[in-house]
Amino acid sequence: MSLEFTLETRVGAARAGQLITPHGEIETPVFMPVGTGGTVKAVPQEVLEELGVQILLGNTYHLYLRPGVETIRRFGGLHGFMSWPRAILTDSGGFQVFSLNELRKVNEEGVTFRSHLDGSSHFFSPENSMAAQIGIGADIIMAFDECTEYPADRARTQASMELTLRWAERSKKYFDEHTREVPWKSRQPSAVSPQPNQIPRFARNDKFDESSTQSLFGIVQGGMDLDLRKESAERTVEIGFPGYAIGGLSVGEPRERTREVVEETLRYLPADKPRYLMGVGTPEEIVQYANLGVDMMDCVLPTRAARHGLLFTSEGKISIKQARYAQDSGPLDPNCDCRVCRRYSRAYLRHLYASNEVLAQVLNTIHNLSFYLDTMRRVRHSISLGEESRFLSSVWSRPKP
Ligand SMILES: [Zn+2]
Repeated sequence: MSLEFTLETRVGAARAGQLITPHGEIETPVFMPVGTGGTVKAVPQEVLEELGVQILLGNTYHLYLRPGVETIRRFGGLHGFMSWPRAILTDSGGFQVFSLNELRKVNEEGVTFRSHLDGSSHFFSPENSMAAQIGIGADIIMAFDECTEYPADRARTQASMELTLRWAERSKKYFDEHTREVPWKSRQPSAVSPQPNQIPRFARNDKFDESSTQSLFGIVQGGMDLDLRKESAERTVEIGFPGYAIGGLSVGEPRERTREVVEETLRYLPADKPRYLMGVGTPEEIVQYANLGVDMMDCVLPTRAARHGLLFTSEGKISIKQARYAQDSGPLDPNCDCRVCRRYSRAYLRHLYASNEVLAQVLNTIHNLSFYLDTMRRVRHSISLGEESRFLSSVWSRPKP
């Protein structure tokens, strides 16, 4: 047993459930903060725990280049290396190769690319992406896929989708043959061991034992073509995975198109398996996608925007650098209960940002993450009450006293 998914409530297409992994339980729909290179930039792990993060995303491409898979493996995988006792998901590296490498060369075997760090040449195939992700040791890992560029004509989109399907077969074959190589038990003694209370309702029961291992999800591609999305979904489901992701979105298409593709693709994914929409979106959009029936989402937006002084609040988006906040003694978001909003004024946050202080990045990121996680908590809460959630409506804003 490596993954268990139970649906508890449904409202229309929206679902609330639980995903149980070898490193703890996740309430869905869930927002997964992005911890690119073994860190959610500017936020220590104990603060992520305090914010209630149940699962983090790591990027295989970045971790493979630095510090390298072997280093991480020696620490018992990424959980041990970064001292994160809760669940982790890694992407396959395909998307970063696509987005960071204009000089990449794709053939049937895999992708040759140059490191964005030092220009050195590397090769990813379904097999060595799986090997890297097994060494990194996330609870959930992703099949190696090709992210189709936007725009792309139908012939190109179809060829790319077929390649992703062949790579999905190869990913699954390699994963099934090497599933016991996950490094969770080979951990070197580390400075500190996680306390049991840092692991949310840890699933060490009769379902999860020493033989529990990783789970591999398939990825649906097919560009913006709804027929190809259907075909990609059906054929990926035929290969058979414990969960399915929708990839190839947020690549420059209009948002209305993203929603259409997501809605259409979800129709062909099994209702009893977790569905992961990769790389989206704004707070409004994550609520919308949860309402469509998506269970898992990730996005760099809250963390990246925070480092640029863009903050999401219940009263709209704020650019903290603006002079209008220089004397503002109020909290960043009067409806937010995070440690930043409880303690600091907008004037202080504006001062930190304007002075280029490191603390600005820390505090801004903590608030934005808190806002996203809170948004998802509200969505789960309303689904469990049998209500569809609406952003910026009764569910969203608390009644003013
Ligand atoms: Zn806050």
